[in-house]
Amino acid sequence: MCGIVAYLGEKQAYPILIKGLHRLEYRGYDSSGVAIINGSMNLYKCKGKVNKLENFVKGKNISGSIGIAHTRWATHGQPNDINAHPHTSQNGKLSIIHNGIIENYGPLKEELEKRGHIFLSETDTEVLIHLIEDIQENEKLDIAESVRVALNQVIGAYAIVVISKEEDNKLIAAKKGSPLVIGIGDGEFYIASDATPIVEYTRKVVYLEDEEMAILEKGKDIVLKSISNISHTPYFQQLTMNLDALEKGGYEHFMLKEIFEQPSSVRETMRGRINIHDGIVKLGGITDYKQKLVKAKRILMIACGTSWHAGLVGEYLFEELTRIPVEVEYASEFRYRNPVITEDDVVIAISQSGETADTLAAIKMAKKKGATILGICNVVGSSIPRETDAGSYTHAGPEIGVASTKAFTSQVTILTMMALMIAREKGSITTSRYQQLVLALEQIPKQIEETLKTNDIVEAIAARYKDSRNFLYLGRGYNFPVALEGALKLKEISYIHAEGYPAAEMKHGPIALIDKDMPVVIIAPRKGNYEKVVSNIQEVKARSGKIIAVVSKGDTQVREMADHVIEIPCVEEMLVPLVATIPLQLLSYHIALMRGCNVDQPRNLAKSVTVE
Ligand code: GLU
Repeated sequence: MCGIVAYLGEKQAYPILIKGLHRLEYRGYDSSGVAIINGSMNLYKCKGKVNKLENFVKGKNISGSIGIAHTRWATHGQPNDINAHPHTSQNGKLSIIHNGIIENYGPLKEELEKRGHIFLSETDTEVLIHLIEDIQENEKLDIAESVRVALNQVIGAYAIVVISKEEDNKLIAAKKGSPLVIGIGDGEFYIASDATPIVEYTRKVVYLEDEEMAILEKGKDIVLKSISNISHTPYFQQLTMNLDALEKGGYEHFMLKEIFEQPSSVRETMRGRINIHDGIVKLGGITDYKQKLVKAKRILMIACGTSWHAGLVGEYLFEELTRIPVEVEYASEFRYRNPVITEDDVVIAISQSGETADTLAAIKMAKKKGATILGICNVVGSSIPRETDAGSYTHAGPEIGVASTKAFTSQVTILTMMALMIAREKGSITTSRYQQLVLALEQIPKQIEETLKTNDIVEAIAARYKDSRNFLYLGRGYNFPVALEGALKLKEISYIHAEGYPAAEMKHGPIALIDKDMPVVIIAPRKGNYEKVVSNIQEVKARSGKIIAVVSKGDTQVREMADHVIEIPCVEEMLVPLVATIPLQLLSYHIALMRGCNVDQPRNLAKSVTVE
């Protein structure tokens, strides 16, 4: 998510900071800002692109050789001028930039308010800088020590840089969860959330470890210590990065970057919501609506495209775990018929952008008829979350590639957590099974990481079938939506016609299409209706279709029949979509690339579908 740049040295900071922000634009963001100390703390920030910030500061005082700059991707509070970073402390002497989420900002804020602090923004970040100031004033500590003490009170993820007007020769940086790298120049320091803003100035860098902080003082060597105050010896590394590879964090396309980000994006989705010690799931955003969900006569999932597929996985999850009937609706169909909606219905609207016009219109209609409306969106402050009664953000980070990848896995993760939470509340699941599933879910990021290792195998399969004119994707149960999503991904970016089908439905029609030129992707993990899927594979085989099977690690039965196998880790049946989707995303990516298609911006498609 979002970006950090900081500079301390002899040069003018502003041009370095702005160039750095431009370098980080590939990460996606909604607002940006900069603070430079030159006797006073000069701070400028606004909603929108870095170019807008540049226009905004024209003619203003931007001189100084120490400064911090940020591109924000809102998690707490809408994307607007006030919530943009940097944030200042109450007395205006300290400024901070922050990536990540301070999970316990609520109680910290309450405490600080009691002590007279007044907050201007809705962010968690502003709470942290006030806390640092409070500690500094009460304990009479220098800025580095105040930051260290404050961080010991923080729960959550952060990469931060703090500057102080009274110690204007120092940058204080720290991180936990979010990345931070320090560039060591000749009498100068650079800090950034990845190496892209640094590499053109110096190749000597130090990557901060979790719960480690750096004190960078002009004219002195870098000082590293843990936030528990144990000093560390810096481990210097040389950047080998090529300047050309700066865009997209070194990946060739946003889509590939986003596919590979899924271990961390799914982790972000779960962060602070799963308590592994007690085996408990808690989605703060819907806590007040738990009873409404438990008592719901029916749940309606409303979405479009990939989000609709996530909704289908949600249907299987909710019905199995909570025993509440679920219907999954295309927003565009739902709103134009005269659907039966009652006050006992709970509608869950799913949309990455939070701006999908049909979904927005559909929930407005359902709201009028008295249903409770919940949202699952990625973009904070977007229209759908504003229209809903409550909801949960996916926190997957900005998704730039038009074909959705990481947003899907994060949506499914939220739906799994919601279903578990409601099942527990309702008593439709035993405590031991609940805890077993919570622990299994918590393991998923690692299993996605494992699954991404299939990339080379998938690429080789792509090379074999890139010229095919049609593809069929088959799956049963939880993997039927995965088949649909696999087919959609291929259509979207490679323009090959593809169909997703429930495996057993094949013989009611599509089997007529199968011949030696038809690649059939079958999701056949060991769990679920394995034997039945094996029979479907035989049916394809008997008609000379080419089988690309996604199987559980160690599978031998399907391997004997299939032309190609892609192994995924063995996971709980209901969690298979979270891993089985990954190789299908990779398959469409590689095929599209080999066909010379524009992977990130496929023809005719838009990222945020704001037309009806
Ligand atoms: N949680 C912070 C906010 O909402 C930081 C977001 C970010 O990582 O950009 O302002």
